[in-house]
Amino acid sequence: MKRVAVLGGGPAGSFAAERLARAGLETILLDEKLAWEKPCGGGITYKAYQQYPFLMHNDTPKKVVTTTSIAAPKAGAVDMPLSQPLLIYSRYDLNRMLLNRAEQAGAKIEKTRVTGVERGGQGWRLHTRNGSLDADFCVVATGARNPLRNVGTEYRAADTMVALGYYVPCERDHIDIQFLPKLEGYIWVFPRCGHLSVGICGKGEPASSLRARLEQYMREKSICFKGAPFYGHVLPSLETPGWKSNRVAGDGWLAVGDAGGLVDPITGEGLYYAMRSGDLASQVVLDEAHSLADKAQLYRSLLERDFAADLAFGATLAKRVFLGRFLFNTVPEQMVRFIRRSPRFSSLMQDLFAGTQPYLGLKSRLWTNLNGTLTETIMNFFLHKLIPGENHV
Ligand SMILES: Cc1cc2nc3c(=O)[nH]c(=O)nc-3n(C[C@H](O)[C@H](O)[C@H](O)COP(=O)(O)OP(=O)(O)OC[C@H]3O[C@@H](n4cnc5c(N)ncnc54)[C@H](O)[C@@H]3O)c2cc1C
Repeated sequence: MKRVAVLGGGPAGSFAAERLARAGLETILLDEKLAWEKPCGGGITYKAYQQYPFLMHNDTPKKVVTTTSIAAPKAGAVDMPLSQPLLIYSRYDLNRMLLNRAEQAGAKIEKTRVTGVERGGQGWRLHTRNGSLDADFCVVATGARNPLRNVGTEYRAADTMVALGYYVPCERDHIDIQFLPKLEGYIWVFPRCGHLSVGICGKGEPASSLRARLEQYMREKSICFKGAPFYGHVLPSLETPGWKSNRVAGDGWLAVGDAGGLVDPITGEGLYYAMRSGDLASQVVLDEAHSLADKAQLYRSLLERDFAADLAFGATLAKRVFLGRFLFNTVPEQMVRFIRRSPRFSSLMQDLFAGTQPYLGLKSRLWTNLNGTLTETIMNFFLHKLIPGENHV
C-alpha cells in the first residue's frame, strides 16, 4: 500500500488522515469545503475526550458545561449536574483543529469535490473537480449526504432523522434538553462561545413541522431567532435492519463516521464515533498482517466489538425511549420524574450523558443496585418495560 485517499475532511476523515500520515503512509485528504460550520450541536462527551485527551487540552475555543436541564411536557424540568462536563465546540473551530493536526502529521490536504470513484485492478482512480488521481485504498468520510453511490451506508428514509436549528447570538452556561409530545427526537439548546446552537431532531416528521415546533419552543423561552442563521442537515439514525445490512466496508474501501451510519440512534452523538471509526479504520489500513481482501472483515469486527453492537442495541430501544408509555405517562415524563426522585437514576442518566454507560448493561446495572425504595421498585418495572430483551445479572 503506497497511497491512501481520504474522501472528506470532517472529524472522521481528518482523524483517520492524521493517524495514517503519522504512521508514515502517503495520505491525501480531499474535501470540498475544508473547515466549515457543519450543522451540529458540537457537543463532545467525556467518553470522547477521555479516549482522545487533546480534545480537552488545546487552545481551540470551547465551552465546558457542567449542568443540564431536562424537560418533558407534563413533568416540567429538572436540573441535572453533569458528573463529567460536556465540551461544546463550534464546528468550524473543531474541524479546523482536526485538519491542522492531520496536516502537521504529514497528510496532504486538497480543497476539491470528489465527483466519482472507479475501481481498477487493485487500486482506485478518483475524479475530482481539479482532475483525477490514483490511490491504493480509500477511506470514505463524506458524511451523511455522501454523494458516492457505490461506497458507504445505503440509507433508507427510516435510517435518518431531520435535524435543523438556529445559531443564536447569546451567552449561557447550561444545556437544555426538551422532549415533545409524539416526537421521536428532541430539542437541544447548546451553549457555545458567543452563541447558542438551538436545534431539533426528529424521525418521520417533515422538516417544516419540526421547524414550527422549534420556533414555538424558542418563542416560549424568549430565544429570539429573527435574523439568526438557520441550519439543517441529515442525522444518521439507523434502525435494526439498517445496522444488520450496514455497508460499512468493501473491496479497497472503509467508511468512517456518518458515511458509515456510525451515530448513536438515540442521542444523535456522532463526533466520538466519527473519530473512533477513523482511528479504527487507520489501524486496519496500517495492519500488515491482513491482506487487502481481509481488511473489510477486520474493520467490521473491530467496529462491532468497539461500539457498533452497543449502538445497534440502542436502536432497539429508540422508539420506546421517545414514544413509549408507562403508568399513564410517556417515558420521557417518567425519566424526568425519576431523575428528580432517585439519585441512582440521576447518576445513571449522568453516565449516559458522559457516554460511560453502554446501552447493553443498562438494565442490569440498576437491577443489581436497587435498595428497595418504592421509587426504585417502580423504576425497576419501568426499565423492564423499556428494555425487555436484556437479561438480569
Ligand atoms: C444538527 C445536528 C446536530 C448534531 N449535534 C451533535 C452533537 O452535539 N454531538 C455529536 O457528537 N454529534 C452531533 N451531530 C452528529 C455529527 O455532526 C456528525 O456525526 C459528524 O459531523 C460526523 O462527522 P463526519 O466526519 O463523518 O462527517 P461530516 O462532519 O459531515 O464531514 C463530511 C465532510 O465530507 C465533505 N464532503 C462530502 N462530500 C464530499 C465530496 N464529494 N468531495 C469532497 N468532500 C466531500 C464535506 O465537505 C464534509 O467536510 C449532529 C448532527 C446534526 C445534523
